[in-house]
Amino acid sequence: MSYGGHDPKGYGVEDLVLLSTIDLKHVVQNLQLRFQKGRIYTYIGEVLVAVNPYRQLGIYEKNSIDQYKGREIYERSPHVFAIADVAYRSMKRFGRDSCIVISGESGAGKTETSKIIMRYLAAITNVQQQGEIERVKNVLLRSNCILEAFGCAKTTRNDNSSRFGKYMHINFDYDGDPVGGNISNYLLEKSRVVRQQDGERNFHVFYQLANGGDDALLRQFGLTKDAKQYYFLNQGRSHKVASINDSRDFAEVQTALRSINTFDKQDVESMWSVIAALIHLGNVRFIDGDNSSGAVHISEKAALQNAARCLSVTPDELAKSLSTQVVAAHGDIVKKQHDVNAAYYTRDALAKALYDRLFSWVVSKINEAISVQNNSRYSKSHVIGVLDIYGFEIFGSNSFEQLCINYCNEKLQQLFIELVLKQEQDEYEREGIKWVKIEYFNNKIICDLVEVPRIGILSILDEACASIGNVTDKVFLGELDKKLKNHNHYTSRNLKQSDKSMGFEEFRITHYAGNVTYSVMGFMDKNKDTLFQDLKRLLYHSKNRLIKSLFPDGSKSMAEVNRRPATVGFLFKNSMNELVKQLAQKEPHYIRCIKPNEEKNSSIFDVERVEHQVRYLGLLENVRVRRAGFAHRMPYDRFVNRYKLICPQTWPNPRRGQQLRESCWQILEHVGLSADCTQGRTKVFISSPQTLFQLEELRTKQL
Ligand code: ADP
Ligand code: MG
Repeated sequence: MSYGGHDPKGYGVEDLVLLSTIDLKHVVQNLQLRFQKGRIYTYIGEVLVAVNPYRQLGIYEKNSIDQYKGREIYERSPHVFAIADVAYRSMKRFGRDSCIVISGESGAGKTETSKIIMRYLAAITNVQQQGEIERVKNVLLRSNCILEAFGCAKTTRNDNSSRFGKYMHINFDYDGDPVGGNISNYLLEKSRVVRQQDGERNFHVFYQLANGGDDALLRQFGLTKDAKQYYFLNQGRSHKVASINDSRDFAEVQTALRSINTFDKQDVESMWSVIAALIHLGNVRFIDGDNSSGAVHISEKAALQNAARCLSVTPDELAKSLSTQVVAAHGDIVKKQHDVNAAYYTRDALAKALYDRLFSWVVSKINEAISVQNNSRYSKSHVIGVLDIYGFEIFGSNSFEQLCINYCNEKLQQLFIELVLKQEQDEYEREGIKWVKIEYFNNKIICDLVEVPRIGILSILDEACASIGNVTDKVFLGELDKKLKNHNHYTSRNLKQSDKSMGFEEFRITHYAGNVTYSVMGFMDKNKDTLFQDLKRLLYHSKNRLIKSLFPDGSKSMAEVNRRPATVGFLFKNSMNELVKQLAQKEPHYIRCIKPNEEKNSSIFDVERVEHQVRYLGLLENVRVRRAGFAHRMPYDRFVNRYKLICPQTWPNPRRGQQLRESCWQILEHVGLSADCTQGRTKVFISSPQTLFQLEELRTKQL
């Protein structure tokens, strides 16, 4: 056996803890072997590792569901159903809230996995076919295509890449049937609305309308069926994608919107109207004015008029808000003319804010539809949460967004460490076994580097954003250097002149997953995320009810406006801490997704790419932590049932009246393996995997 471990069938080990050698090479080899045999799932204890198969495996059908329903995790081969079932059973049996945290890089299969979990939970519940529960299940399943239309886009790494973080929880009644739920969304990548890289697209919904809307609808919004001519849709030069059928998806989204009763006809029409307005807005262009005032002119009058019509404001008002800004200066209100750059900045800020708020509104409408009805029957409900959130990102050039995303991953890793270790510790206590301290890298220091008040990166950034005067991104970098120069996980070119792999506008964080170099350019702008009051006021006065409702802050006069609205970093930090708090109260289950190659190919296993992911997902550490204590543990009844045939005193049955614990020990002593085992209250703990292999081999010989 080249990769080690007990493997009679040649599929590799089903639990990485059972490998005889734990190192990167053996772990990856085992995953590769299993991937090649179509076995994409492998455990580390109760953590599930899933390699994206990039093909339909036929392992999610009804007969698979039946196999996993109500089974213990080790009774069947590793599967996402087994994890979903453990979460479900512990919720139902013991009333424990649980959460399933899915992580991995873009394209690794997180969103598909979350959908498979939802479908499984829907399939195993409501055997009595009650109407209200069917309704909730339908909304939960249907809402997905709406969320994906608005929140996913084609990127170079994934044709259906989620550009937001999603935490969804489902409430169950005391019979274990779903009675409602809630979705929280995190940090939508709204810059995509105005800017797309080569080979990428804007959010799906834009192309669904432009490529899939019927002629009457498009005419109503002044659109033509030609995504190529719209600047917000065409920058990536990939408006048509082979794997995506925009017309079909448009129809599906329309059906879903109709079937979820919280979107009325007017809502739906307004929604498409906003999407159309954004498409037109992208074609509004500015040129320098010919007079000395420096005011800009708008060159594409038709685009402006169409955008205004779709927003239910007048073209004049829209033009004014895009080309000028009202500011308060020394108690006076003065009008400032924008130059071309400022006008484009304003247009893009408007588009991003409008889309971002529309997205949050869509989520809130879905939430309305799935919220738990006030009913005493449901008052004692329990929840299962599913977190599908962006994995660690390292690009050629990393900016503020990557810092937020990587910080989020640090927080989740921190939670993982605390919970997994805590679970081990709790189990040892419950079983009355002496706790052995396990050494591991605690990444709290990196979370602190980003988030602590005053001397954390986000705080220093907020301070820079709040100060008056000419504070630039580079001044901000100087502040970072000053306050963090002695921090072990922070460095920059200024602090380390010799390191030419960094530019002078960059800093580097040693994340638990590796080094990431961030460019500070744009940090302050992105953190402030200013939307001029003029634009909020404009949309607050829209004749369209929905659009007006998206901008309640537009009702404020200039004098009332809060000069320092909360920054993006501040809000994100708070939402992360809130999320972690929520997760920490639940019994956690982890699914670690791995992307086998960059080509979306079902037969390539790129060892180097996988090694990289295994490393930064902390899988090796995970295996070691799990093994440092005991490689394996098994309740006495299961142990005796499985191994009684290798000991004459217990075969075919242990002596009458004998405790299972005694029978278990009898077996272990008979085969000379008891020295490597410890007796807990309900389980036997096995220290080294070799012992388990030997037991398995002895058993196989007897069969
Ligand atoms: P992520 O959310 O991690 O970015 P996705 O879940 O969107 O990634 O997966 C990317 C693509 O990989 C999917 O569109 C699908 O084609 C494929 N895929 C992922 N998981 C599976 C699976 N379990 N079975 C078949 N194909 C899958
Ligand atoms: Mg996704």
